This record gives sequence, structure tokens and C-alpha cells, in this order.
Amino acid sequence: MDITRRGFFLISTGLLSSILIKDNAHGKEGRYATLIDISKCDGCCGEPIPRCVLVCREQNKARFPEPKKPIHPYWPRKTYEDWSDKKGMINTLTPYNWIFVQKVTVDGKDIFIPRRCMHCDNPPCVRGCPFGALTKRPQGNSVINESLCFGGAKCRDVCPWHIPQRQAGVGIYLHILPKYAGGGVMYKCDLCKDRIEKGEEPACVVACRDRLKDKAVFTFGERINIYELARKRVREQGLFLYGDRQNGGTSTIYLSEIPFDAIEKALASKKERFQMPYEVRNKIQTTFNPIGKVVITSGFLSIAGAVVSAIISKNREKGGDEDARKD
Ligand code: SF4
Ligand code: SF4
Ligand code: SF4
Repeated sequence: MDITRRGFFLISTGLLSSILIKDNAHGKEGRYATLIDISKCDGCCGEPIPRCVLVCREQNKARFPEPKKPIHPYWPRKTYEDWSDKKGMINTLTPYNWIFVQKVTVDGKDIFIPRRCMHCDNPPCVRGCPFGALTKRPQGNSVINESLCFGGAKCRDVCPWHIPQRQAGVGIYLHILPKYAGGGVMYKCDLCKDRIEKGEEPACVVACRDRLKDKAVFTFGERINIYELARKRVREQGLFLYGDRQNGGTSTIYLSEIPFDAIEKALASKKERFQMPYEVRNKIQTTFNPIGKVVITSGFLSIAGAVVSAIISKNREKGGDEDARKD
């Protein structure tokens, strides 16, 4: 057991402050946005891995989970989510793959859709996490704090696109109540938070542009300019827009020559793991209960505090016994 009294204090202050800060983040749009023009994406045909996917994996590999095995399910569950033997999977979202290129055929035409977190304006994942492990940053990105996440997957439940992915056998729950609380840690795209904080573009944006030059699929920049550009192209070229109003608005907007309701139907008919619903309501606006969250978090902190204190006392007694034996 390597959790200390100081560690517990840091965790609890993190949890409580994130509850307070997070709810002030309601409705903030953030500085940046990404435009993804799927009429330009060919899925990197001819290349072994789409470049956006490859570079994301490279960029984030140091943060990928290394679960302790054997992994045990926590009560009352009988199963757990373990992707660690499928690290090479690139055609879906996993804790080891934060963007994928979804292929779908509409009216005989193949379409390639890069899929990753939409970075919603009012993200239900951020507001719904009972432990305050997610934050909405001023840059517009929603970010999971892996050291606070218990892997309960509430963020995935409330996400209209089911983006965050869970890996069991890692995370803070292993140090507190491994048999009774938590299921691992959730992982997803954070919009290359370290890069954008330094004023750089996300790695996937750069990788696509390196290949396609001025025909690149992604355009990243100040949100106001990105939205203006997208709307101009809708007006002038008759393209269709997605993500500007879904879930109350997002920082990831798509342009397409094919209507998004047709894309939605095509994905639904294939029963794809990741859908693209056209009408997306923000679930948290109807289900969010800040009082409930404080109660859950306070209750959890009390239990965790008692467990940590008991462990510290036990370790002290053990240390005392050992000291006595040395004497
Ligand atoms: S978005 Fe760009 S890098 Fe990604 S698959 Fe499409 S063309 Fe390739
Ligand atoms: S797409 Fe899902 S995971 Fe991403 S910010 Fe929106 S609700 Fe959260
Ligand atoms: S923005 Fe960064 S973390 Fe997100 S998909 Fe692109 S490369 Fe991956």
C-alpha cells in the first residue's frame, strides 16, 4: 500500500475543488475548435495505419495503461474491461487508441470519418463524474485526470458518442477499495493538451496536413474562425455540418458532402460500436444532480479516509512491532 496521509489529502482536495470548479465551467466554449472535412479523408489508403491514428498513439504511448495482472472484478461484477492484450487494435476506440477512422458506405460511396472526443461545450462527462476526475479547460478540451479516475464509466454513460474507454487493473481504486469501488481508469483524446497549451496544434492535425498539404482533412484554430470557415463552406459549397449544435455544441465540427442523417442511418444499419446520432440531447441537463454528487463524493471520501487511517495505523503498529523485534 503506497498511499500516504498527504496523498489522501491531495486526492480529497482535488476531488472537492474539482466539483466546485467544474460546475462553474458550465457553458464555457473554450478557445479552440477543430474542423474535420470528411469529404477530403481517404482513410490514408495505401498506408498501413492512418497517419492521424499512428501519430496519436506515438504521442500518447507513455500514458497508456500498464495493468497489474491478474485483474480481479470488483463486487458485485463478474467481469472487467481489459484491452491490454489488444493494444494493436486501430479500428475502434480503446484505452490504447484515442482516435480511429470509421468507414461507412452511403449510396455506394465509401466515407472515412476520423472519430475522437468531440470536446463538447457543456460536456456531460465533466459534469457527470462523481469524483471530479474530468475538467473542461479554457482551450475547449475536456481532460481526464487519470490519477483521480476510479473507472466507474459514468463519463461514458452520459457521453452521447460513448467516447471514454476503460482499462481495469490500473488506477487509484487499487489503493483504496480494490474489491468494492472502481473499475480502472477511463482514457480518451484530450486534444493534445500539452501541445495546445504551448500554442502548438494537435498531433493528428499536423500529421494529416503533412500528407495532404492544402487538402488536409483537419483545420485547427481559434473557435470563432473555425466556425466562420465551416459556415462559409456550408453556404458556398452546400456542405453539411455536424457538431455545431449536437449535444448543445462542441469544439469538433464535421463537414460532409453527404447529409449526416444519411450517415447516421448507414452506421445504425451496420450496428457500429460508435454511432453518429443526428439529434443529440445533452443528457446531463436532465439527469445532473449537484447535491447527489456532493453526497456521493463526501460519502466516498469518508470511507476512503477511514480505510487510509486504518492502513496507516496498521502500518505504524507493524513498524512498532518490527522496531521492537530489532530491539
Ligand atoms: S484524417 Fe487525414 S491522416 Fe487521418 S485517415 Fe484521413 S487522410 Fe489520413
Ligand atoms: S464527446 Fe463525450 S467524452 Fe468528449 S467531451 Fe463530449 S461528452 Fe465528454
Ligand atoms: S488531438 Fe491529440 S490526443 Fe486527440 S486524437 Fe488527435 S493526436 Fe490524439
